[in-house]
Amino acid sequence: MTSADAAAVETLADEASTLDQADPLRTYRDRFVGADTSLVYFDGNSLGRPLRASVDRLQRFARDEWGGRLIRGWDESWMQLPFDIGDALGRTALGAAAGQTVIGDSTTVLLYKLVRAAFDSAHAADPARVEIVVDRDNFPTDRYLVEGIAAERGGRVRWVVPTPTPHAADASRGAPGRVGPVSLDRGVDAESLRAAVGPSTAVVLLSHVAYRSGYLADAAALTRIAHEAGAVIVWDLCHSAGSVPVQADAWDFDLAVGCTYKYLNGGPGSPAFAYVAARLQDRLAQPIQGWMGAADVFAMGPAYEPAAGMRRFLSGTPPVVGMLAMQDTLELLDEVGIEAVREKSVALTSFAVRVADALLAPHGVAVASPRDAAERGGHVTLSHPAMRAVTARLWAQDVIPDYRDPGGLRIGLSPLSTSFAETLEGLRAVEAAVRAEG
Ligand SMILES: *Cc1c(COP(=O)(O)O)cnc(C)c1O
Repeated sequence: MTSADAAAVETLADEASTLDQADPLRTYRDRFVGADTSLVYFDGNSLGRPLRASVDRLQRFARDEWGGRLIRGWDESWMQLPFDIGDALGRTALGAAAGQTVIGDSTTVLLYKLVRAAFDSAHAADPARVEIVVDRDNFPTDRYLVEGIAAERGGRVRWVVPTPTPHAADASRGAPGRVGPVSLDRGVDAESLRAAVGPSTAVVLLSHVAYRSGYLADAAALTRIAHEAGAVIVWDLCHSAGSVPVQADAWDFDLAVGCTYKYLNGGPGSPAFAYVAARLQDRLAQPIQGWMGAADVFAMGPAYEPAAGMRRFLSGTPPVVGMLAMQDTLELLDEVGIEAVREKSVALTSFAVRVADALLAPHGVAVASPRDAAERGGHVTLSHPAMRAVTARLWAQDVIPDYRDPGGLRIGLSPLSTSFAETLEGLRAVEAAVRAEG
């Protein structure tokens, strides 16, 4: 390390310490399992750390509720859990009034159910509406499932081409010729969506926060554009729920789906949530007609009759065990407020960008996420051709980011469990690993 590097690190360490001391949310970190170890966790956007309260809740549930109440538990509370937790999630993280959010299935399955229901409803009302609009940079499951729906319903997929980013210059700012095929797409903005929708659009499916770049879409504006074109819009909130405030009702959302194992710390494979605006619920028919979505679940009648309200979007038995842990994060969000979480998230990602500029840019690492915090979700993607090997090296030393092709190292900064000091320490390890792989 040169003395200039050492001075830069010292300045950043002072800054991290000042930011941690001034952070109103700093004490919440202690409520998470493992936050007292030296492990650096940059992947709360992929699988959040468990809260200590969740460990107790899971044990209590197995012993007292499952073990003690046995099948009586369904009547006593479990049947109601998808709706009760859904309402709590809607209130604390989605800006959704009660009666519009439910927990169940995986994100993939719920997206399939809602996109297909929306497609069928739009197409029945106007047979010219045959297109599902989705962007090329959307998460694979989103792209795959709309192709399946288009094939089975005689529709077609219309791909949005995201507007190239103005900071594409980053890619050449490091070492010219060394930065590989880096995707610096912003994501879907008003211009690119307007060019893709029209009288043939049935449904639009977009991610609020892009899983690779972290680009934060203007969900209110894009919803308006979809509605002006007469289309139904489905939002994928996987990378925003619990990190970026959403105002589903105020932004006039139609439908939304998201994960609970990312920023909501529900645990591996915890079930997803679905939001359906009250005005649409009784007009949509989802394709997996199961007994749990029927009007009278225990009538066991001869034919399926969909329930009124959110119950019709369920299919089978609610995954109760998977819904336990997320309740602790929802309680925490209630206490802290999603706006305060976002404020810390912006401070963390802004700090990470400053550290990347100071320590990593000289090694040819580019910031592949928006530099304007207003256009950025909760993670920062750093790109360099060696990032796959860098990730393996970091995991071996208990520094845990994740890798997304092409050449993207994702630094996920879960606001309630991550400190500024941890962020700096992890990025210093990235610098050493890039140097070693360089
Ligand atoms: C994580 C993620 C998913 C995951 O879907 P699963 O069905 O839970 O595997 C879907 N979409 C986006 C945008 C994601 O980030």
